[in-house]
Amino acid sequence: QRGRLLRLLHTPSVTMDGQKVELLANIEMPDDAESALKAGAVGVGLFRSEFLFMGRHGKLPNEDEQFQAYKRAVEGMQGLPVTIRTVDVGADKPLDDTLRDDAHLNPALGLRAIRWSLADPAMFLTQLRAILRAAAFGQVHLLIPMLVHASEIRQTMALIDHARVQLDNRGVAYGPIKIGAMIEIPAAALTLKVFLKYFDFLSIGTNDLIQYTLAIDRADESVAHLYDPMHPAVLRLVANTIEQARAQGKPVSVCGEMAGDTSMTRLLLGMGLRSFSMHPAQILAIKQEVLRADTEKLGPWAEQVMMDDEPSKRIAKKA
Ligand code: PEP
Ligand code: MG
Repeated sequence: QRGRLLRLLHTPSVTMDGQKVELLANIEMPDDAESALKAGAVGVGLFRSEFLFMGRHGKLPNEDEQFQAYKRAVEGMQGLPVTIRTVDVGADKPLDDTLRDDAHLNPALGLRAIRWSLADPAMFLTQLRAILRAAAFGQVHLLIPMLVHASEIRQTMALIDHARVQLDNRGVAYGPIKIGAMIEIPAAALTLKVFLKYFDFLSIGTNDLIQYTLAIDRADESVAHLYDPMHPAVLRLVANTIEQARAQGKPVSVCGEMAGDTSMTRLLLGMGLRSFSMHPAQILAIKQEVLRADTEKLGPWAEQVMMDDEPSKRIAKKA
């Protein structure tokens, strides 16, 4: 199977009816850029920067350390775009297991991701400056996780501007960036207008979107059987986000596990998705699905599937 898929490495990712589909890689460390390229990714759709911050006994990476790491990822991708997500620690990704004192709280609903960044502006500015500096060395897209309030969007934008001013004042070079938001909280998926107003692109984080829509802790084995990517409510939120972004001509991608799940590819294509970001190991299998797909037929079919009470029954899981 793997050998057969490997033959698709240099095949352009285009559907039977001629729709181009962008297949991007999710990475956790700068050196993963190599496996992304080897797998045929046309860019990095999600660089989870928190892995630079974790397991350091609370000592955070400074601006230069971060800059070097982002620059290495950008250079590693050889001119292809790299989407760097600002730090998303908390919940399933604790900064440091030994520092936890929140066992009585629900970390998934707590101070994680952009909330954590906005709670410590100096720390956030350090990361923003490092990312802006790396953008002088290639195509960088900045991605913000877990936004839900318009006020958080405004604060984030103000801090990005401030980081630029700080670099100007220091006379340090930086590059242009596109700025995107993760849509991974149902409230965000239901208030897309403000996101489309402020951001250049959207990226749907289905892992968290499923967790928060279905009230299923993604890390809790005892309810794992209820964690259903095909729940009609989840599908509705994903389809709505894709549709509204496309209506405004804004790029939209899925970067959660759903993007690398071959049983979901046809459905996502039918919803209008043309950009998928996933673990590099999944790229060729997804490309195979894309090559076999006819989006003209999949559109009406996806509408039908979404109306179903139990869509998963309709979509036979492929081996
Ligand atoms: C997601 O939530 O789908 C996502 C891509 O981000 P993470 O898994 O890192 O929370
Ligand atoms: Mg997430």
